[in-house]
Amino acid sequence: MAFDIEKIRSEFPILNRKVNGKPLVYFDNAATAQTPQPVIDAIVDYYSNYNANIHRGVHTLSQEATDKYEEARLKIQKHFNAKKSFEIIMTSGTTHSINIIATGFAEILEKGDEIIVSALEHHSNIVPWQMLCERTGAVLKVIPMNQEGELQMDAYDQLLSEKTKLVFTNHISNALGTINPIEEIIKKAHKVGAAVLIDGAQACPHIKPDVQALDVDFYVASAHKIYGPTGVGMLYGKEEWLNKLPPYQGGGEMIKEVTFEKTTYADLPHKFEAGTPNICGGIAFGAALDYANAIGFDIIETKEKELLEYGTSELLKIDGLKIYGTSSKKTSVISFNIEGIHPYDIGVILDKLGVAVRTGHHCAQPIMDFYKIPGTVRASFSFYNTKEEIDVLVGAVQKAQMMLR
Ligand SMILES: *Cc1c(COP(=O)(O)O)cnc(C)c1O
Repeated sequence: MAFDIEKIRSEFPILNRKVNGKPLVYFDNAATAQTPQPVIDAIVDYYSNYNANIHRGVHTLSQEATDKYEEARLKIQKHFNAKKSFEIIMTSGTTHSINIIATGFAEILEKGDEIIVSALEHHSNIVPWQMLCERTGAVLKVIPMNQEGELQMDAYDQLLSEKTKLVFTNHISNALGTINPIEEIIKKAHKVGAAVLIDGAQACPHIKPDVQALDVDFYVASAHKIYGPTGVGMLYGKEEWLNKLPPYQGGGEMIKEVTFEKTTYADLPHKFEAGTPNICGGIAFGAALDYANAIGFDIIETKEKELLEYGTSELLKIDGLKIYGTSSKKTSVISFNIEGIHPYDIGVILDKLGVAVRTGHHCAQPIMDFYKIPGTVRASFSFYNTKEEIDVLVGAVQKAQMMLR
């Protein structure tokens, strides 16, 4: 099937709107991707036709909601190629997923154990580990990065030892777009007996990960970056790890039997799913994966690569513009600054011209400290964006530069 950009754009109603009187150019896909009509339809269908609590009711609506919700779990399992459906835990997003693991490891780690994280992390992948280290006396080590925004793998080799119990890194950096060598990271960690958690929040819009091929212990993602709704996400964990970890929250749904003397926990995945979940969100997450797979991740990758190459070469024609994150292995994220101008000021002018970008530290302050900058302007492209939109961005940046100089 040929890639029909007009048809694809018409499936995203928001792309038709105007901002400040100008057609919207949405280049903040790394913060949240837009939602296509089939996913919006799934949300409307749920609330119009079978809104009910799951797993508990015997009535028809509850059965229908339960079936659709569990169907979504199977779609997620298939998408990530997990061996068992109960290895997929439904969460409120990447941050929640990471906190389930970090809190669970508090019972496993001992004083002097080591955790390795990468210098390219999102705050949601730094703070929980710092909290974990404070609680357990474990020590946090950091894999450093180079000027291109790549992890220094020789330094990683030096950090690994039998003290290493956990290694955490993102699959793709949200601030710079670098694709990290996670296969190598996982293999080497396993050699010293450490578990590995990969934060796939930024990778999943672009790549279809195979958790069994990766042999990763935990993999996490958020639906809203994969064309789904906010407030829902997933945690994949190997069965033996999920059995070993304690539950994260107590409440309904996560128990087998409750008495005041002792409570026994439910089997996987319910052990980690206390309370009424985001039922509609979970179902819409499944619809979003259906949508992305129907487009095809090979096509998504090709289109985004074209946009990245075009955007990089066009932006670099602007005087005084510097791009941060220049690895040859990166996704369609361009983080940049213009000499002498604060990124925030550029962002404000771009918004006036209808162009949505992110400015600031992108929840990755250590990266900004490394480059000794307050932040960047980040333009992140999705397969539904166009070269014409990049031309609008470039024109808008030039205009901002003229106004601010
Ligand atoms: C967006 C993002 C997160 C946080 O995701 P939430 O949906 O806010 O929980 C974590 N890590 C990376 C790399 C991200 O891009």
